Amino acid sequence: MRIHRVHLPTLQEGEVVLTGSEAHHLAKVLRVNVGQEIKAFDGAGLESTGVVQSVHDFQVILELQEPRASDVEASLKITLAIALLKGDKLADVVRQATELGVVAIQPLITKYCDVKELSANKLERLRRVAQEASKQSGRSVVPEVREAVKLREVQIPLLSILAHPHTSSSLNDVALGKGSPLTIFTGPEGGFAEEEIKFLMSKGVTPVRLGARILRAETAPVALIAALLLPEAL
Ligand code: SAH
Repeated sequence: MRIHRVHLPTLQEGEVVLTGSEAHHLAKVLRVNVGQEIKAFDGAGLESTGVVQSVHDFQVILELQEPRASDVEASLKITLAIALLKGDKLADVVRQATELGVVAIQPLITKYCDVKELSANKLERLRRVAQEASKQSGRSVVPEVREAVKLREVQIPLLSILAHPHTSSSLNDVALGKGSPLTIFTGPEGGFAEEEIKFLMSKGVTPVRLGARILRAETAPVALIAALLLPEAL
């Protein structure tokens, strides 16, 4: 049977009393039973095995073992800096990027974005999507979805790459230090403006081409993350 996962912001060995929606979900939707094993995770990389002690409609008591570091997290810590996309596409990318293993998502406002802001409601929804996807995929880290910033105001870490269809360098040309954080930039439907590409490159960001075909704005980030993270697990 599939082991259910519960998100608890602080994990501690011993008894924990769950109330509110998390308890209701376990009791009424997942219908857990006394004695059943569950996994609790803190969203920051720790997890703990637990056993259900008692079940009521709005209260579930668990006995947790000592928390330990999750072994499903990638050693390459990727932040996806992605231009705002139309409709529900950003939510789809957040879901897939979370499944593949990114640690953070930084929405960007760029020159050719059709959407120029990320409302509080949309941000809230993206955060819920990340939390759900993290739970579903067995992760113990919930990627942080940050507030949207203008491209020129974004923090650019030492190791950053830019998905750029019109360059000759490929991922093979980038030296990736395991364990060091990496930020990847991907553009909107209309691509990055020439001056934006120049700006990023002037900050040391390496442009990388993902094959000879132009990918859609919602495909490129997923393909790039898969290319970076999947070889680790093979
Ligand atoms: N019309 C734009 C393409 C936009 S595609 C142009 O021709 O330049 C949207 C985004 O996906 C791009 O900004 C880029 O970040 C990424 N992308 C798409 N195809 C790519 C490829 N083959 N290599 C690298 N990045 C790509």
